[in-house]
Amino acid sequence: MNTSISTLLEHKAGGIKSVPSSVSVSEAVQEMNRHKIGCMLVMDGEKLAGIFTERDVLTRVVAADLDPKGTPVNRVMTANVLTVGPEKTVQEMMELFTEKRCRHMPVMKDGKLVGLISIGDVSRWVASAHRAEAESLRQYIGGGLSA
Ligand code: AMP
Repeated sequence: MNTSISTLLEHKAGGIKSVPSSVSVSEAVQEMNRHKIGCMLVMDGEKLAGIFTERDVLTRVVAADLDPKGTPVNRVMTANVLTVGPEKTVQEMMELFTEKRCRHMPVMKDGKLVGLISIGDVSRWVASAHRAEAESLRQYIGGGLSA
């Protein structure tokens, strides 16, 4: 739980998935589906302009009856993006996701976007840490009994 998210990013395959802010909702959703992910970062060149997630598709596009082909993604994204530094720990991320009620967090270092951590990345890490701990306890107990 004290592992920093920079370690999680090192183990994460694939780069940062993003779309330019000029694309339509339809194009952004196609990219999300192509990569099988629930969120797209929206970029103005090198600058992070916003975040657009599957939740936004439901609440700001479908529920608002907007045309996905005729709606630019920057009209329905969240422009005020919360970001974290790579030194944040897994424990801190679990607390942040709960407190902020979101499942995605871009990671910035020295003003540059270096990755994205999702609640899925964090829960996979926690599950595998628990598995490793259980295995080492099993070996310890097994070793103790046979000694
Ligand atoms: P999510 O649970 O990540 O699908 O997102 C729920 C809502 O929070 C959506 O409106 C997203 O646009 C927004 N959101 C997700 N991640 C962030 C973030 N890091 N900063 C600001 N808003 C976000």
